[in-house]
Amino acid sequence: MCNQEVVFIKHANVGSAERMFDMADILAVKVEPRRASDKGGYLCMPLRQNVPEGRKGWKLVNCPECGRECWERPLPEEFTKDMFSGVLCTMCAMKRGV
Ligand SMILES: [Zn+2]
Repeated sequence: MCNQEVVFIKHANVGSAERMFDMADILAVKVEPRRASDKGGYLCMPLRQNVPEGRKGWKLVNCPECGRECWERPLPEEFTKDMFSGVLCTMCAMKRGV
């Protein structure tokens, strides 16, 4: 299995978001160019199984789909949760082909 995390968004103008996820060793997979106002996609939470030590600001939650422990990360200022279809752990997000 690869370590790549599928992340919800990549936006050229959102430097803070990219830096945040770079810091988290998470690869932002570009789905399509989008504006911050676009909706859709899933927020992916790294599984605790893969990332045992959370980082500053991360919160341990359970995936709404599989119930496994995973990390909720703070969103960059430009984003809010309701911009997304939902929140899933990495595995569930990959299963959905996000
Ligand atoms: Zn899950």
